Amino acid sequence: SRSSATGASNAAAELFGGLLAPGSDRHACQSRHQSARYYKHSPYAPSPHLLRKLRDHEARHKKCAPGTPLYAKSTAQLRSGGRSSSTEAMECQYLVWLPYNGLGNRMLSLLSAFLYALLTDRVLLVRSTDDFAGLFCDPFPDAAATWLLPPDFPVPDANISRLGVYSDESYGNLLGSKKISNDPSKATLMPSYVYLHLAHDLRHTDRLFYCNDDQLVLAKVNWLLLQSDFYFVPALYDMAVFEDELRRLFPAKESVSHLLGRYLFHPSNSVWGMVKRYYHSYLAQAEERIGVQIRMFSWASIPVDDMYKQIMACSRQERILPEIEGDEMGNTTDTNNIVGNDKSKAILIASLHADYYERIKSAYYEHAAKGEGRVGVFQPSHEERQTEGQRSHNEKALAEIYLLSFSEVLITTGMSTFGYMSSSLAGLRPAMLLTANDHKVPETPCERAVSMEPCFHMTPGVKCQGKAVDKEALSRHVKACEDLPNGIKLF
Ligand code: GDP
Repeated sequence: SRSSATGASNAAAELFGGLLAPGSDRHACQSRHQSARYYKHSPYAPSPHLLRKLRDHEARHKKCAPGTPLYAKSTAQLRSGGRSSSTEAMECQYLVWLPYNGLGNRMLSLLSAFLYALLTDRVLLVRSTDDFAGLFCDPFPDAAATWLLPPDFPVPDANISRLGVYSDESYGNLLGSKKISNDPSKATLMPSYVYLHLAHDLRHTDRLFYCNDDQLVLAKVNWLLLQSDFYFVPALYDMAVFEDELRRLFPAKESVSHLLGRYLFHPSNSVWGMVKRYYHSYLAQAEERIGVQIRMFSWASIPVDDMYKQIMACSRQERILPEIEGDEMGNTTDTNNIVGNDKSKAILIASLHADYYERIKSAYYEHAAKGEGRVGVFQPSHEERQTEGQRSHNEKALAEIYLLSFSEVLITTGMSTFGYMSSSLAGLRPAMLLTANDHKVPETPCERAVSMEPCFHMTPGVKCQGKAVDKEALSRHVKACEDLPNGIKLF
């Protein structure tokens, strides 16, 4: 009947065209079933190959998750601590993601780890520290199969907490001490687990992770533990082993973080409650929502007035915020070519500080916006400083990433992973405020991002053995970032 056809298509839309598997509990994780209604842009549909890969991953997760006999078998090997012959790969192999650094960094490294798990047919488990617990729902539909690392995981918590660049178990140090060889033709005994240190202080030998032949070696290790504060997806494109698969998974290169972000991240009911309350109280009534994310890094700080001017200059350059009658110099501009000026607009500010909100709000209070549209300015919180290890602080941060992602238009701060995550979820190429160099206000206030993809804040930067990808082909979809010339991004 007609109504059931509409019902079916509503259900498909609700689950992002099949990106999310049906059948999970609507009440346990409301955002999973409701967020699709809030996003304004969904520029890329998932490829059939990605859908197959996700369904396979979910099936594997169900089969191998904590609590299953296969998990018990794999952890028994880990508990014995013995080395296994490299031909003895287990039926279930695992990637354990360890949280590190701010929320935006965590989401981007977790998303990268998830793609790496998809590419290597591994089960993804996450170590949930106190400040991370309760932020997200389990992404995989089977309620019995959690992605959380259980407390009785054989590697003790204290040992996991200490993992870092100097750990004996790191891939770099195992290579250095010759406990492992990165010559894939050599049959050596594999340690029961290998720690991948991919955080910003990594050393040359850790970087070998980004090499084709090293991936062939790592494929034989049953347990990998990974810590990173980066979006390292662009580096996966530089490895021949993953080339074909990536091409089939993501026909549009800039859709990786957009699709995987919407697949993987679902705010828990408590965070989702904050998002919805705020959205319906302040943003829903407007005809257009403009998200403005302002991050002042201590290493690149400039005076508040200068930053405010930079935001306004960016807005004029990219025509984002509604113009006001008579600009700061008292000049009037021709209003006829200002498009959509009669729409009511809500400007959502996300920042640790209240200064920019105060200034922007005053601007629209003291001056009329051109055209007929009403303009509201809102800021959900101003936490003043970044705090680590506090649940409520992270809940607000996550709620604001989602509120920004429900915008029609975005201005974000370059180099900010918080901003990257909002743009990816929103499916938008933001106007990115450029970072001050040496505390000097940048000459160009902002640049329109070439893609909605985050920047990998480094390059693999390592000479590799083995098959290489075609660098010329690679340069057609990986380039230097607008906000960090030493970083790379997909486009
Ligand atoms: P990045 O440092 O900008 O790359 O982003 P991260 O998310 O990794 O770290 C910044 C942290 O500071 C966030 O996780 C929040 O805890 C906090 N923070 C930064 N900007 C905001 C903001 O606009 N709103 C809120 N609520 N918190 C913020």
